Amino acid sequence: MEENNFSGRPYLRIMFECCRIYQRIYRDRDGMFYEGRCPGCLRMVRFKVGRGGTNVRDFAVY
Ligand SMILES: [Zn+2]
Repeated sequence: MEENNFSGRPYLRIMFECCRIYQRIYRDRDGMFYEGRCPGCLRMVRFKVGRGGTNVRDFAVY
C-alpha cells in the first residue's frame, strides 16, 4: 500500500514524439495506471502499472 505516499508520488518520464515534448505523467488515484496528456496536442496516454513494478522510467510515445 502506498496510499499515504503522495509526496513521493511515482511518475514516468514520457517523450511525446508527436510534439517532441518531455513530460512527466503521474500514477492515478487508484494506482493502476500512469496517466497524462501531451502538453502540445492533449493526446492522452495511459500505462498500466506492472505488478512487480518497473525500473524503466523513460518511455517514448509515438
Ligand atoms: Zn502531442
